[in-house]
Amino acid sequence: MLEIASLRELLAKPKQIVITTHHKPDGDAMGSSLGLYNYLIQKGHHAKVITPSDYPEIFNWMPGNENVIIYPEQTELSNQLIADADIICCLDFNALGRINEMGEFVGKSAAVKLMIDHHLEPQDFDDYRVWDINACASAQLVYRFIVDEMQEPKLINKDVATCLYTGIMTDSGSFRFPTTTAGVHRITADLIDAGAENWRIHQLVYDNSSESRLRFLGHCLTQKLEVFYDYHTALISVTRAELEHYNIVTGDTEGIVNFALSITGIKLAAFIVERPDKVKLSLRSRGDFPANEVCKKYFEGGGHRNAAGGSSTDKLENVVQKFKSILPEYKKLLMQ
Ligand code: 5GP
Ligand code: MN
Repeated sequence: MLEIASLRELLAKPKQIVITTHHKPDGDAMGSSLGLYNYLIQKGHHAKVITPSDYPEIFNWMPGNENVIIYPEQTELSNQLIADADIICCLDFNALGRINEMGEFVGKSAAVKLMIDHHLEPQDFDDYRVWDINACASAQLVYRFIVDEMQEPKLINKDVATCLYTGIMTDSGSFRFPTTTAGVHRITADLIDAGAENWRIHQLVYDNSSESRLRFLGHCLTQKLEVFYDYHTALISVTRAELEHYNIVTGDTEGIVNFALSITGIKLAAFIVERPDKVKLSLRSRGDFPANEVCKKYFEGGGHRNAAGGSSTDKLENVVQKFKSILPEYKKLLMQ
């Protein structure tokens, strides 16, 4: 592991830097990556953000977005940038499997690797780590890195602040989750002072739905919601045909699981969706129910205790059945 002094020295001269984040990047993945990008370019570095897949349009307005490279669309260029990089920054993930085929190239690169993350059980592939599972967002840790570790608070300009605010806002459920401490509010106050227009960011992310996405949400809530009061669990599952009928694109299904969790008394909510290549699960839970354990044990996934995901190559109906069949195992925890 590197010491911060060595990292500061390394970052004192212009470097080739690749920043990457997890598959299907969310607001924190894009916000933390572009926040770090906008900091590094002020220091004269040649930085590029490369995402392992596409990401929701609701995040494509962030400063620096025009320079983001989507790996599957520019694979050769991406592999060259990874091979040539002096430093690779891994944001909002901690296992190389989360960046798909890119993981192999990042893993074998000789670059110094910086991990900034808040997920459990980090894999050991990095040289410097800003890691805290109590952080509400990786964007909060990017702020900590720039201000406390690099000691450059003046470089939190409007662009950096806008991106970091977006990451914190989305990963804290709009400042609602228990990780939203007074310290988080102090950081967001700093970000607003630095130029983040909080009202505009909320509008761009939350009041920016297509008509079809809203109608799809209505369909999920009226036609697809199942509630198992005996297990304090709610489930929404959707087929590929339903996604196609409503012209659902990347990002449109984001957040739907939270509606299931908003029913009084519900402790576990699941959103199960049939994607072209596999069935994807999103779990959300309340209190001490370990959604990540369920995902790890049964659905090749993981995540946080209260927000986790996984996938399966089995048929949708079998995955739904499997999810229902494991509820009795967790009955005691669910009914507490
Ligand atoms: P979401 O339900 O929004 O896709 O993901 C919720 C959380 O679970 C995120 O923090 C994400 O990083 C994590 N997660 C989602 N899918 C997977 C997966 O397949 N594997 C692992 N390890 N974590 C996942
Ligand atoms: Mn995150």
